[in-house]
Amino acid sequence: MSLAGEVNRYGIALGVDELQNLEELGVSEIVDVVDVAPRDGLQSDAVMFSSAQKLELIRRIEFAGICRIEVASFVNPLRVPQMADAEDVFAGLQAARSHSDAGATHIGLVLNGRGFDRAVASNAPEINVVVAVTDAFSQSNQSMTTDAAVAGAVEIVQRSRAVGLPVSVTLSVAFGCPFAGEVSTDQVLEIAQRIVTAGPNEIAIADTIGVAVPAAVRQLVGALLSTLPSNVALRAHFHNTRNTGLANALAAVEAGVRTLDASLGGIGGCPFAPKATGNIATEDLVYLLERSGYSTGVDLELLIEASDWLAAELGHPVPSLVAKAGSFPKTR
Ligand code: ZN
Repeated sequence: MSLAGEVNRYGIALGVDELQNLEELGVSEIVDVVDVAPRDGLQSDAVMFSSAQKLELIRRIEFAGICRIEVASFVNPLRVPQMADAEDVFAGLQAARSHSDAGATHIGLVLNGRGFDRAVASNAPEINVVVAVTDAFSQSNQSMTTDAAVAGAVEIVQRSRAVGLPVSVTLSVAFGCPFAGEVSTDQVLEIAQRIVTAGPNEIAIADTIGVAVPAAVRQLVGALLSTLPSNVALRAHFHNTRNTGLANALAAVEAGVRTLDASLGGIGGCPFAPKATGNIATEDLVYLLERSGYSTGVDLELLIEASDWLAAELGHPVPSLVAKAGSFPKTR
């Protein structure tokens, strides 16, 4: 795949000459890893973290070099009690931030206008809005049809743009739905097209229930990258429910995706439950990418330390295998 003419993360359009120079210099391609452990991970773990524990988790993830973290969701606390302290988490992050200029971007997930209002009131620096691509999942998760969710997302994208907030739209159950079954590429493309007209910064495809395989990933990513406008990035979100998560992540990268979600430790489902549905583990993904010649900017040893801390705080092991085995062996 040629990247000539594409605009890189620094806004620089790369010509063929520059790309050859980059290759000669041994500069590897950058893949951004977004950690979603504080949100997707913790919201489905039986253990309830305090706001202080969440802030420490986020601090450790940032310290390892992760630049984007989904830290909370502004949803109904009666439905998702683990996220009831979203305001406190953002307030805590801002208090910590006032001591230093550097740091990661913290994403607040929203499902509707009310959630968006809460995110803005909490000074969330980035918004992620979710749309389920099947009516059945949308009704079950958000009590509305996909059409209504698309209309709501379009409005949130417009409102985000109006106040200058970066906004992404995540298309959930993009590879299969627990109620409607198969999801077609055309179905996802059609919804993405409607949302793109509002001008989000990024569209994400989420394998919410972990049913995707690499062939499906290549097909959907290929279709989206050939139709999305060049100023809309594509992110991918995989769960390891059927042990295909990392294979799917690599397939997505090889098909051109440059931003992937993952959760520290691979948390997101109880490791003792028969239907555990954890995200792919951030440390496993970083190991895979770095050993495959991609640059993530993340310190794997610090990530493993953070994962060990997380497992101790949760009081149960985490699914990550790199956390268990360690990084590549060092010679003495
Ligand atoms: Zn997820």
